[in-house]
Amino acid sequence: MAAGLLDIESLRREEIETILARSKEFQPEPGHTFKRFDTLRGRTIVNLFFEASTRTRTSFEIAAKRLGADILSITGSSSSVSKGESLVDTLNTLGAMRPDAIVMRHSASGAPHFLSRHLPIPIVNAGDGTHEHPTQALLDALTIIDRRGSLEELRVAIIGDIAHSRVARSNIFLLSKFGGRVVLCGPASLLPREMGRIAPGIELTCDMEEAIRDVDVIMMLRVQFERQEEAPIGANEYFRFFGLRPEHIALARPDVIVMHPGPINRGREISSEVADSQRSAILNQVENGIAVRMAVLERVLA
Ligand code: ASP
Repeated sequence: MAAGLLDIESLRREEIETILARSKEFQPEPGHTFKRFDTLRGRTIVNLFFEASTRTRTSFEIAAKRLGADILSITGSSSSVSKGESLVDTLNTLGAMRPDAIVMRHSASGAPHFLSRHLPIPIVNAGDGTHEHPTQALLDALTIIDRRGSLEELRVAIIGDIAHSRVARSNIFLLSKFGGRVVLCGPASLLPREMGRIAPGIELTCDMEEAIRDVDVIMMLRVQFERQEEAPIGANEYFRFFGLRPEHIALARPDVIVMHPGPINRGREISSEVADSQRSAILNQVENGIAVRMAVLERVLA
C-alpha cells in the first residue's frame, strides 16, 4: 500500500503538526498570491471526483500547479463510470497510465481505503461518503491556529447534520488529539448517539444555545440532502432552531470564530449577517485549503 492520506483518525498528532507547520510555510504574504515551487515538477496527479465539488477540487488543482505538478481533473459525469464501468475497473485503467498520485472523492465511505489496498499509487481522500474529509479538518485546524494561536484545549461546537458529515468526523478526530472538547448539536434525527463515542470528551445536545455557550469555535454544517432519502425539516423551521444568527454569537466567547466548510446555505444553517461578519473565517478556510493541500501533495509525493 503506497502512503497517501486516507483519514485523520489514523494520523498521529505529530504527523498533523508536521503537515500544519509545512502548510504555514505555503501561506502567501498578505496581498500576494501563493508562491510557485518546482518540488513536484514532472509528477502527474489525477483528481478524480465522483461527487460535486467547487472548493476541494479547485484547490487541489491550484495546489498541484503551484508545486509544478501536472494535474488533470475527471468528474463522475465525464468518466466512464457513467457508462457502467465499475470503480475498480476505472481505477485500474487510470493506474495503467501511471499517474504519481490520485486524489479522490467518492460517495461510498471507505472507497479510497479500498483502492489504496488495490493500487500501488498514493491515494488522497478528498471526502468519502459520510466517513472522513481529512484535508478539510487540516485546513480548519490551520484556520483556527491563525485566528487563535493554538489548537490546544479548545471548546468547539459543531452544529447541523452530524449524522451524514464527514467534515464533523474528521474534525472530531483531529481536535480530540489536541485535547479539544467538542459539543455536537443538531436535530435529534441527525444527531446519532454513537457519534458521542468516537472520541473522548464529546457532548451531544439538541439545544443550540447550550451548544454555543462559551465556545471558542462554532463550526456550522450543511444538511446533506444527497445522503438521505427523507428531507429533514424545512428551511424556515431548520433556521429557527439550528440556524446561526447574530444573537447566538453573544453566547460564545468574545473572540469566537465561525467556520463552515461550504457550500453555505444562507437562511438555512447560517444568516448572512453572521456569514459576512468579522467573526466569520469562512473565506480564510478556503484560502488555507490551498496551503494545506500543497503540504499534503508534497508529503505524499516528494
Ligand atoms: N464540502 C464539504 C464536503 O464535501 C461539506 C459539504 O458538502 O457540506 O463534505
